[in-house]
Amino acid sequence: MRQSTLFTKTKKEVPAGEVAKNAQLLIKGGYVFKNMAGAYSFLPLGLRVIGKINKIIREEMDAIGGQEMVMASLQDSSLWEATDRWDDDNVDVWFKSELKAGGTVGLAWTHEEVITDIMRQFVSSYKDLPQYPYQIQKKFRNEMRAKSGIMRTREFEMKDLYSFSATEEQHQEFYEKCAEAYMKIFTRLGIGHKTYKTFASGGAFTKFSHEFQTLAEAGEDVVYVNEEKGIALNEEVIDQVDLAEFGVTKDELVKMKSIEVGNIFSLGTKFSGALNLNFTDEAGLSKPVIMGSYGIGPARAMGTVVDLLADDKGIVWPESIAPFKVHLVALNTDNQELVDWADGIYEALKDRGIEVLYDDRDARAGEKFADSDLIGIPYRVVISKKTKEAGKLEVVTRVTGVTRHLTEGEIWADFDSNPGT
Ligand code: ATP
Ligand code: MG
Repeated sequence: MRQSTLFTKTKKEVPAGEVAKNAQLLIKGGYVFKNMAGAYSFLPLGLRVIGKINKIIREEMDAIGGQEMVMASLQDSSLWEATDRWDDDNVDVWFKSELKAGGTVGLAWTHEEVITDIMRQFVSSYKDLPQYPYQIQKKFRNEMRAKSGIMRTREFEMKDLYSFSATEEQHQEFYEKCAEAYMKIFTRLGIGHKTYKTFASGGAFTKFSHEFQTLAEAGEDVVYVNEEKGIALNEEVIDQVDLAEFGVTKDELVKMKSIEVGNIFSLGTKFSGALNLNFTDEAGLSKPVIMGSYGIGPARAMGTVVDLLADDKGIVWPESIAPFKVHLVALNTDNQELVDWADGIYEALKDRGIEVLYDDRDARAGEKFADSDLIGIPYRVVISKKTKEAGKLEVVTRVTGVTRHLTEGEIWADFDSNPGT
């Protein structure tokens, strides 16, 4: 893509009151636009990143048997009354609205009731189980606080998968598989080294649920961690458990701030019981289906990556989710010969299937480099009068700052041996 045609531009200022580093950098870089507190639009660059995050999530969910679908946002009260989750006294995040035709609808803030209702139509025997439907879809929540940029918003995409199992063993097996898939996802997103599967307060029928908490100063949560033993517990459970069971003492745990990027819950028969989702087992007995729910916030994960990996010059994307792999920066664009050379490199990159943002704008070198640092694309390839004279291109790796001078042939060899995304 030619940067001269991109309708977004980098900005020096952020809206007053935007205190979160992730949103500040993403707004400056032209990735997101803040519509109001708790509501952001994803601009072309931002959508490319979210798209890549979602692709990674899809690949890992599909690999463990997930089946993608999309559920409605508009919700009728009846289902939610059956589980006691319609009343504003029980659930304080509902957005509700009056229908012109009469009656109240709510905007779904989660989908356990909805998917249970759907599965009632398709599950009747143990032969219909297990099933793992999931979606990546907008949730609406009337969150009290919205200070963490794109990490806590009032409308946000969530990947929510629901498991439907016939037996506790079947459920447990999937629960563990999903936990492993989550670690793979966070590793592929570049935050695996800081992310812990933590013990959190109970699912409906188990002692614990698990959260995936990424250690970060900007986090809203608190966890107690022993990095060596790879153990982490949420603050809310620390005083309720016997730490000996985890093989640690309180002194061996360090209190740290963290971001909840995902969580997994055993739901038992809470929803299937309330909504009559039953199946007939091998012995002909009718039983409620055993359920689990598994969430990830793609935008929260994106904000976490920005927060953790950025440096003082701007965003640093891991190659796996960068909007482009290469930022081709042409200087001295008043020189037609140079422009021709840069155009040729641009075409050659595209021909090789390498995603490239081409800074073909007529702007000063300082401005181009500052923008490039801010936008944070993994490799910057610079073409200038100087590089032309040397017969080489300059390749700067964003994360390390390492600069290399390579011939065209050497660049292709380099990128071919490291195809990245
Ligand atoms: P939190 O405790 O941070 O409010 P939650 O327990 O309400 O999170 P879930 O309802 O289980 O979270 O949602 C699943 C995932 O969706 C979370 O792990 C998080 O990554 C993401 N998420 C939750 N709330 C928001 C939000 N307001 N904005 C963006 N992402 C969110
Ligand atoms: Mg919440």
